[in-house]
Amino acid sequence: MRKILKFGGSSVGSIDRIKRVIDIVKAAQLECSFVAIVVSAFGGVTDHLVSASKQAASGKEEYKNSLLELVERHLTAAHALIAPAYLTEALKVLETKFHELSNVLEGIYLIHELSPKTMDLIMSFGERLCAFIIYNAALPDIPQAQYLDARDLIKTDRSFNAGQVDFEKTNHNIRQYFEASNSLNIITGFIASSKENETTTLGRGGSDYTAAIFGAALGVNVIEIWTDVDGVMTADPRKEPFAFTIPEMSYKEAMEMSYFGAKVIHPPTIVPALEKNIPLLIKNSLTPTSSGTFISSTASKNNAAICGISSIDNVVLLSVQGGGMVGVCGIAKRLFGALAEKNINIILISQGSSEHSICFAVSAAYGDSAKEAIEKEFSLEMRAHMIEDVIMEKNLSVIAIVGENMRMSTGTAGKLFSALGKNGINIIAIAQGSSELNITVVVKKEDEVKAIRAIHEGFFLSKKATVNVFLIGTGLIGKALLENIHNHSRIDYEERNLDIHLIGIANSSHMVFNTQGIPLDNWNDLLDHSTEKMHIKHFIEKMQHQNTVNAVFVDCTSSQDITDHYEDILDTNISIVTPNKKANSGSYENYKKLNKLSSKKGVDFSYGSNVGAGLPIISTIDELVRSGDKVTKIEAILSGTLSFLFNTFTTETHFSETLKNAQEQGFTEPDPRDDLNGMDVARKLLILARECGYPLEISDILIEKIVPEEYLQAPSVAEFYSKLKSYDHKMSEKLLQAKQAGKVLRYVAKFENGKGKVSLEELGVDHPFYHLSKNDNIIAITSNFYKDTPLVIKGQGAGATVTAGKIFGDIVRIGLEQI
Ligand code: ADP
Ligand code: ASP
Ligand code: MG
Repeated sequence: MRKILKFGGSSVGSIDRIKRVIDIVKAAQLECSFVAIVVSAFGGVTDHLVSASKQAASGKEEYKNSLLELVERHLTAAHALIAPAYLTEALKVLETKFHELSNVLEGIYLIHELSPKTMDLIMSFGERLCAFIIYNAALPDIPQAQYLDARDLIKTDRSFNAGQVDFEKTNHNIRQYFEASNSLNIITGFIASSKENETTTLGRGGSDYTAAIFGAALGVNVIEIWTDVDGVMTADPRKEPFAFTIPEMSYKEAMEMSYFGAKVIHPPTIVPALEKNIPLLIKNSLTPTSSGTFISSTASKNNAAICGISSIDNVVLLSVQGGGMVGVCGIAKRLFGALAEKNINIILISQGSSEHSICFAVSAAYGDSAKEAIEKEFSLEMRAHMIEDVIMEKNLSVIAIVGENMRMSTGTAGKLFSALGKNGINIIAIAQGSSELNITVVVKKEDEVKAIRAIHEGFFLSKKATVNVFLIGTGLIGKALLENIHNHSRIDYEERNLDIHLIGIANSSHMVFNTQGIPLDNWNDLLDHSTEKMHIKHFIEKMQHQNTVNAVFVDCTSSQDITDHYEDILDTNISIVTPNKKANSGSYENYKKLNKLSSKKGVDFSYGSNVGAGLPIISTIDELVRSGDKVTKIEAILSGTLSFLFNTFTTETHFSETLKNAQEQGFTEPDPRDDLNGMDVARKLLILARECGYPLEISDILIEKIVPEEYLQAPSVAEFYSKLKSYDHKMSEKLLQAKQAGKVLRYVAKFENGKGKVSLEELGVDHPFYHLSKNDNIIAITSNFYKDTPLVIKGQGAGATVTAGKIFGDIVRIGLEQI
């Protein structure tokens, strides 16, 4: 492992922190074959140097006190950190540096002039002093430590305060130097030199960039930026107390965040890392064990649609407008050309489609010179009133939401605007990068923090809701559902989280209620010992009188007694989720009434599990219908039970035994005769036809039973089974006959030309329903949209787990809809 570690001013802000830095470097040395470190000036020192030089330039003697304070601070650090063996020598070197600094400041004081070039020289002392002290402090532990002045290697042009790196020379210098060095180099961040060996700097905050320049030149495995926060956070933690660390983000996201003000990374830092595909790791030197932010080519993964929010305060917005701009080419070119000439960085541009105006934001420091540059460029047009006066709005902030996932999701802008709107924050201008990596708004500076918080809450902070479940039926499906609720009683979805509480439960004999939630590991016992006898009317009354919000009634029975109460339940604004088909396969009028009532009351009536267990059959049909399609034909195998039966029934087995086996595995209706009499499939077909918009009644469906009526008439399930034995030979015969013709038996539901039929068919190998395994369901939907090739849905079509999964999904959806 080869690493560059960069420690910012915040990590070397105090003696204690510097000691931690040395510990971190020692630890890195143990695990790496190559380590180099880059350090910034002690926290606050660069600002201090800037203000001292400004004092000097304006002829204020106070600069001397500022200088003394700086000297004092560094000497204190040196005494506290450097071992006696190295101290005397180190102090001598420090003295010469202080002397040099003092001379430069005195020069400024005398001539009252502070050029950018001199400013760079002054600022360079911060890094030089810091790196030198840390180098000396490290010597006892790291004897091979070496102080390295980056000015010897990093070459820039003469753009003082923001030197542009000459990478060819710089990379060559760095590689050459390191080829000959076996030391652990402690490198000055931020500073560089011109061709003429004048001191330059890489822009404020530029030590990060130094680390990236060295890292890329040397092809390290990772560039670690150690700072005072746990990585890049969802927003500036000083402005948003609920900001949290972004564990992973892409170079592009990091670039956008930093460009729009996230100070934690200096924007150009990303470029050398990205070009060499070297990951950046942002770590906290105060809590080295926290994992920080890993920046690579992989985009952030969270459910919030955005990766983070950043902001730049104190910007001005300049607007150029006028009739003379409409349809005229080259206006923008001239405008931005004029600004570029003055080295003015434009943060954001926005142009209305009328082309009547262009507005752009620049840092407040550039406001006046930007205005001047434009007025000069367009003086002729202004005189001719083709372009109006340039308007400058001051005291503004730019806020950007950033994230690669924005490209793939809709509604992000809407969410942003509604978060601001709800909080009464006025948006002055909007821009979206064409990369769709950010959406930027300009707001009043005084609104900035409030806006960040509102946006952060809108996108990231958990929205909570509780859904309260009342369940009837604790058979296989009910049990599986309770297990789901037990295992996932808290759902975290996107920025929302949902608690699912079981408030009421009943089996055929007892019921239990608890407004605080029934313990999900104990519901069985509670039901067994409950003194409350189950009575559906009482259950519903109790449910209605609890006044619970977000109540969902779940009917996991197949009983008509229960569905008879659906209307009453929906009427009191309680949603219903159910696999029970009885309500929807009763009269068409009732089916319609319940559906209408639920939408009128704004509650859910979810019965997706009526057909195909967990398969998305009803939802698909609903979507087709909603999109204006007309289903003309349905062909399907809709009974997992019968699918299973005819898949496992062989000429060596008895039909009755195969049926029993299916029932024991939970693949049949509670009374298996509901499967064999074709009624179950007919009901499903009826529901599907109704969902397609056909007002059918059950009597419109021709049902060919699998087993004659006389067998089905047995007074009990047990008696039915024993009677069925005498029909086993008949079923075997049917199977044999099909087999001999190379066919299989399938119980097929068909709907065409407004008529439905369910019947046992022999299907040949060329039929799409020939190859079905286990309890598969399959449905082929022909419609106006799917005319030539039908839309096919196929998959496991029975079983408590998938059915309960669907019901659970419906409950969660209903809950999340509330948030
Ligand atoms: P260093 O001295 O280590 O270079 P900086 O002060 O330059 O540190 O950058 C770290 C600071 O950046 C943090 O203390 C934090 O206040 C600020 N910051 C702004 N935006 C963010 C953000 N989105 N995530 C993390 N820190 C941020
Ligand atoms: N010390 C420099 C500054 O304060 C560079 C840095 O901190 O990265 O801007
Ligand atoms: Mg920094």
